[in-house]
Amino acid sequence: MEKRILVKDRYFVPYIPYERLEKAIDAVAERINQDFKYFDGTPIILCVLNGSILFTGELMKRLTFPCEFSSIRLSSYEGTLSTGVTRKVLGLTSSIKGRTVLVVEDIVDTGKTITDLHALLLDAGAADVKICTMLLKPEVYKKDLKLDYVAMEIENRFIVGFGLDYDQLGRNYKDIYILDDRKTQAMKHFLIFGPPGAGKGTQAARLIERFGLRHVSTGDLLRREIAAGTPLGLKAKTLIDKGELVPDEVVEGMIASELDAHTDVEGFIFDGFPRTTAQAEHLDAMLAERGKKVDAVLSLMIPDQTVFERIRHRAEVENRVDDTKPEVIQNRIDTYHAKTEPVIAYYKGKGVYREIDGLGTIDEVFDKICAVMEEYK
Ligand code: AMP
Repeated sequence: MEKRILVKDRYFVPYIPYERLEKAIDAVAERINQDFKYFDGTPIILCVLNGSILFTGELMKRLTFPCEFSSIRLSSYEGTLSTGVTRKVLGLTSSIKGRTVLVVEDIVDTGKTITDLHALLLDAGAADVKICTMLLKPEVYKKDLKLDYVAMEIENRFIVGFGLDYDQLGRNYKDIYILDDRKTQAMKHFLIFGPPGAGKGTQAARLIERFGLRHVSTGDLLRREIAAGTPLGLKAKTLIDKGELVPDEVVEGMIASELDAHTDVEGFIFDGFPRTTAQAEHLDAMLAERGKKVDAVLSLMIPDQTVFERIRHRAEVENRVDDTKPEVIQNRIDTYHAKTEPVIAYYKGKGVYREIDGLGTIDEVFDKICAVMEEYK
């Protein structure tokens, strides 16, 4: 069972694995088989489309008495009449006059649909209507109608999979998933932005502690690849050593895996990404796919001369090859102006760009960033 799935714009997490569903279906089928063993006649198994298509398939494989199959769809509610049935039957595939019908539903919650359907089938001349549902939400079921067969009871949560959908998607999963509406809904996405040496990494390391965020530094991720000697790392090293950027698709792939691998955090702080307008556009698309957006770009402002001095100082402390040679440092600064600075205009256009004075002690700058981030809590 996959850990977490994205259906349209929502994340869902595992809830009922297929193996448990199978066992529950075995048990309910056994009860139906016992009840219909000596039944005089041929009942119609009525699949309520679309949701119960998978459940009906599984159930029918297990039924051992003669039965026919038919399917039905109900229109959505039409009006709010206080009495009587307000829905129409669409596409009932055979006559049910004088027949015993076993309705197969995927889920019963308030019970409105099933009671409507029960009444409609009796109106259409069914001799008897029995009900079998795969899932029941007992907390919200408000009707007196007896549900003859219930495979499993569940809490009142929004689910997808095994025939159940979210906006018509997700029916094809064989396990059932539950909406992950706790943290992921509230997750925040920040960028810490600025020229090399602005203190992005140093500040991000502190900010994650204060705000419970995940720090994603593409520079660190690339250095890890280099240290591990992966093909990606080898390719990246030649570019990094010259102060050039690595190709957009390389870093974008890394970001996507980070987003999907960490779901129990308050949000993300991206450091060193995006570094081009194309990356910024791609990040927006990746977040939008997940129902998220960039909340704020925290831009640390420092002059080029300070950048130069800080990088040279860092070379001594961190032993970074790309920090040692003056021509490489200059190339990184030039690349920043040429390729990364345009990202500022992009985020200004989105109304999320925040400038922060990056000069001062680490504590002073930290306090200034925190003051801005507090606004997004
Ligand atoms: P940093 O640690 O952020 O200064 O990154 C070190 C080097 O890694 C950069 O100079 C680039 O060569 C490369 N790099 C890091 N992030 C990116 C990115 N988003 N796009 C392209 N190259 C990157």
